[in-house]
Amino acid sequence: MKEEIKKHLENAITSYHHYYASGKLAAYIPALLEANPKAIGACILDKEGHWYCAGDYEKRFTIQSISKIVTLALAIMDNGEESVFSKMGYEPTGDSFNSLVRMEINRVPKPYNPMINAGAIVVTSMIKGEDNNEKLERIIDFFKRLTSNEELSIDGKVYLSEKETGHRNRALAYYMKEVGILSLDVEDVLDLYFQQCSILVNCQDLAKIAMVFANDGVDINTGEELVPKYIARKIRTIMVTCGMYDASGSFAVRVGLPAKSGVGGGIIALSPKKLGIGLYGPALDDKGNSIVGMKVLEELSRKLDLSIF
Ligand code: GLN
Repeated sequence: MKEEIKKHLENAITSYHHYYASGKLAAYIPALLEANPKAIGACILDKEGHWYCAGDYEKRFTIQSISKIVTLALAIMDNGEESVFSKMGYEPTGDSFNSLVRMEINRVPKPYNPMINAGAIVVTSMIKGEDNNEKLERIIDFFKRLTSNEELSIDGKVYLSEKETGHRNRALAYYMKEVGILSLDVEDVLDLYFQQCSILVNCQDLAKIAMVFANDGVDINTGEELVPKYIARKIRTIMVTCGMYDASGSFAVRVGLPAKSGVGGGIIALSPKKLGIGLYGPALDDKGNSIVGMKVLEELSRKLDLSIF
């Protein structure tokens, strides 16, 4: 298996690299336009602790929406599942990640799920802490434990760029404040959310996080339970149904793995009990998913027979 993983990973990266040309960098956060659209990297970590990495796997980028699985785990650990899901649902939307449309037409105006921006903003508002500083510290601390990377930090430029231009998220959040889903100060919640999205990671960090969720919440190196098993399972499930937004259906058919993307170009994916996978390729398709990352995952899933279905 080891040789096979290495071979197929390297082949997939080489064969699908040219797809970057049909994608685009995310432009609505201006600082993301500074990324190199040709970059492509990937890391796979297996349960025995072996690493398989290729391309620009050490390049750091902002985690963006991949952070939503981590804050969801923390919010459930802080508040319990019932409390978190009293404010949002479990259903995929079929709309884009930052869509406003369903908020008003729903009979009960709750975000459909925690992976779209509306739901993720509510999740962030539920992280416990005295003030934003303490909440951010708790979020980063949790990320450090999941990645075993003490060096994690925030990209200040991307954070400020999104803070300046994130008006659609403001619209979602103010709407949710009006209907009573958000109780805290909107700008405070958004500030925390933008910082969480600007945490810098590389493919190795993503593969480590993926491996924790793949391994029912247990760190493969220390044996420590970082996330309770029932939460890890729920998050894997929500990744399948909602992780790739309005491409979640086709991704399930083509790849068949729990995954979550971010507009920074990252994708996290996992093979339950077996592999944690982190990919980077900042050229995105029209749904906001890394175009090369999706292709590489499709190929790996086929070659290594990874689909969970
Ligand atoms: N920070 C981004 C936003 O809220 C994250 C979106 C994403 O990665 N899909 O718009």
